[in-house]
Amino acid sequence: MACSPLLVSREMNLYARTLENLREEFTSLGVPPYGANQVFRWIYKKERRDVDTWSNVSRRTKALLKNLYSWDVPEIIWHGKSKDGTEKFLLKLNDGKSIESVLIPSPGRLTLCLSSQVGCAIGCRFCYTGTMGLTRNLSAGEIVGQFVALSSWAKNHRYPPEKITNVVYMGQGEPLHNFDEVKKSVEIFMEDQGIGLGQRKITLSTSGLVPKIERLWDFPPVNIAISLHASHNNVRSALMPINNSFDLDKLFRAIQSIPIKAHRWITYEYILIAGFNDRPRDIEGLGKLLDRKKSKINLIPFNEYPQSSFKRPSQKHIRWFQQELLSRGYTCTVRTTKGDDILAACGQLHSSVAH
Ligand code: SAH
Ligand code: SF4
Repeated sequence: MACSPLLVSREMNLYARTLENLREEFTSLGVPPYGANQVFRWIYKKERRDVDTWSNVSRRTKALLKNLYSWDVPEIIWHGKSKDGTEKFLLKLNDGKSIESVLIPSPGRLTLCLSSQVGCAIGCRFCYTGTMGLTRNLSAGEIVGQFVALSSWAKNHRYPPEKITNVVYMGQGEPLHNFDEVKKSVEIFMEDQGIGLGQRKITLSTSGLVPKIERLWDFPPVNIAISLHASHNNVRSALMPINNSFDLDKLFRAIQSIPIKAHRWITYEYILIAGFNDRPRDIEGLGKLLDRKKSKINLIPFNEYPQSSFKRPSQKHIRWFQQELLSRGYTCTVRTTKGDDILAACGQLHSSVAH
């Protein structure tokens, strides 16, 4: 079969293609572009990989799919279940590197927490992933591949019988550091012909990479969560080295550029660390920084991990902190810690750990 210059090699992973990419490629190969819609429906809606049985797809398209595209998805090499039902997975990539993803069930919802990089370059002092450093970015195919691998695992294990309903970019990595591949993966997740996740079902969390926040106008309007964690520069710099380059002033100027109308509001994640950022002056600082109408605050009790020196405040203190913010008119929730008994909670993902 003649191969168009567009299709360069088997490196072309099917799961890395947006519907638009596939339509263009099919056209250049002399296959009607609507074949791409059929492929999306088979692989994502029906979750079927057995190409030969696809009834409405032409023989030529099937041959293209088998011969020119790679169908690789990350391979599950370990998984562990937490007491609360959270399931953590260690996934092996084609080059032997590994990443972690987490499935979090809750009533009426199944959330996939996925990784956007192998490790992370940002080096936050409270984060286990941060201690790994950055190895490399994930491709869009490896990001979507986590969804495909875990959807089929969930289906095969009847765990729970629902489909994945929400995706959060809160696993390993700083998603905005890998802007283009993350954007492409979001476009694939949102494609109606395929998975069709709504924009409110996807959350992108960032440590505050200002130049990329300024590029969010060129990104689907998914939920944005900013990892704030402090309301004073000296405290934030002590927790997050990124604050030395992009301090609170720069961060909030960049946040102004996010089209709030499309995004509705911004969520601010705030890890509570005992004696560090849980004082009355931290609450006052938040009051000065955050607009009540456009902000939601999500308090995250610090998750301890091996060698971490920080401590989680008492439950009573966490409630006090929340009440203070509620009484100032903020929408403020406390994130329930899920999966911490198997190091699957926020900030505990470190894939070099031997399981
Ligand atoms: N890199 C992105 C997304 C991944 S981290 C970011 O930093 O936003 C996802 C969330 O887990 C972030 O809010 C992060 O600050 C939080 N987190 C990291 N380490 C944690 C820990 N030890 N305890 C609780 N939350 C943590
Ligand atoms: Fe990277 Fe996020 Fe961890 Fe910071 S909290 S080191 S940005 S993964």
